[in-house]
Amino acid sequence: MIRAYYKEALKEPVFTTISEAAKELSLDCYVIGGFVRDLLLERGIPKDIDIVAVGSGIELAKKVASLTPGKPEVTVFKNFGTAMFKYQDKEVEFVGARKESYNRDSRNPVVENGTLEDDQKRRDFTINALALSLNEDNFGMLVDPFQGVSDLKTKLIRTPLDPTITYSDDPLRMLRAIRFASQLNFTIEPRSLEAISENKDRIKIISNERIVDELNKILMSNVPSVGFKLLHQTRLMGMILPELIALQGIEEVEGQRHKDNFWHTLEVVDNIARTTDNLWLRWAALLHDIGKAPTKRFDKKNGWTFHAHEFVGSKMVYKLFKRLHMPLNEKMKFVQKMVLMSSRPIVLSEDFVTDSAVRRLVFDAGDYVDDLMTLCEADITTKNPRKQKKYKNNFSIVRQKIEEVEERDHIRNFQPPVSGEEIMQTFGLSPSREIGMIKDAIKEAILEGEIPNEYEAAKAYMIQKAKAMGLAK
Ligand code: ATP
Ligand code: MG
Repeated sequence: MIRAYYKEALKEPVFTTISEAAKELSLDCYVIGGFVRDLLLERGIPKDIDIVAVGSGIELAKKVASLTPGKPEVTVFKNFGTAMFKYQDKEVEFVGARKESYNRDSRNPVVENGTLEDDQKRRDFTINALALSLNEDNFGMLVDPFQGVSDLKTKLIRTPLDPTITYSDDPLRMLRAIRFASQLNFTIEPRSLEAISENKDRIKIISNERIVDELNKILMSNVPSVGFKLLHQTRLMGMILPELIALQGIEEVEGQRHKDNFWHTLEVVDNIARTTDNLWLRWAALLHDIGKAPTKRFDKKNGWTFHAHEFVGSKMVYKLFKRLHMPLNEKMKFVQKMVLMSSRPIVLSEDFVTDSAVRRLVFDAGDYVDDLMTLCEADITTKNPRKQKKYKNNFSIVRQKIEEVEERDHIRNFQPPVSGEEIMQTFGLSPSREIGMIKDAIKEAILEGEIPNEYEAAKAYMIQKAKAMGLAK
């Protein structure tokens, strides 16, 4: 084993304190896992610090906290034998070194005390099993029993033990492997990949919340298609996101083909990942075409159509979020809105872009009109350079028009220039359907450009409308 030391990275006072505390308790301890991995990958100094103690992790945590300025409060998870505290911007977690064995129907192992090496063996990947000593006599020494450093260099995801057992014991690791491959742009060792495919059905014992955590991390990686292609290749995708699998394939009838909307979707997600870090907009890109599977039709006159797929897709978003126990809040509504409106800018740009069409788009999309444009631009996946240029140009015209119209008409977050209250007072009416009709007529007149979005004009229009309805003389 190569003797390498990483003292520089452990200069932060927190590590010196841990070292002192361990000495007082006469136990060995190490910083392990993601911290060491990300340090060696030069991804910056991580904020999460995982400490493994050969002895009681809880005792060590308490000791360290008592020696830390401000004596941070320790949270103890007795059932897991772990403890943690927050100090400045860091989260430090302590666990006793352990040996694990698994039952078939749970991802919670039977645990007993063990050595550092036992503890490294229970880690999911060689690159996550790296440890740095915090002990006085070899402070900063790297402990790498499974050639994790070499795997970091060759960008390889590999399990310390037999992959079949590793993934079967805790099927969450299948998603973690794929997530790390996507986040770090690593490849998964072929034996591991096979074991994942074999064990794919065991994903059933993993909670939806955990699955979604990993999906979010895949979506947030630089090139999310790396992860989604692996989910597809291992056939985990069908278990997690069957709506996407249903988009796969090209059909041909009477010489007419449609595009493969699964591969198209992955391209759209990669495109949008280049322009936004908004997780929910990335979800919208992933789901923007899911309504195409149930709405696909062929007829002689129109060829392939996906009539109302945006509407159907937005309904499917709700079901999908619900199934995966994702939040059914404004984030979900945002994704629904993006899916529902995903074709609007395209339809608009194909024609001469009128002011009223732009006003309607801004009215319907509200604050999210920029996000919608970002989605539509990402949706351009044609390989024909001439078409690509044309579409991009069309969208930039729409964007420009949106700005012009917005500056003049202030449609975003539209507030009716004349209130219902005022309509009732002017004509001596009580709350009724007619009030709504007048309000609506004013809104329509503004969107159509018949009157400007201003109080005086709206009031004049209100009077005219009320007269026409026989509500005023
Ligand atoms: P990140 O925090 O960037 O998502 P990480 O590797 O730090 O990555 P954590 O979930 O914070 O991931 O876990 C910390 C460490 O615990 C890992 O590096 C790994 O050694 C170990 N670990 C986490 N989950 C598992 C698991 N399911 N099976 C085995 N070991 C795991
Ligand atoms: Mg971590």
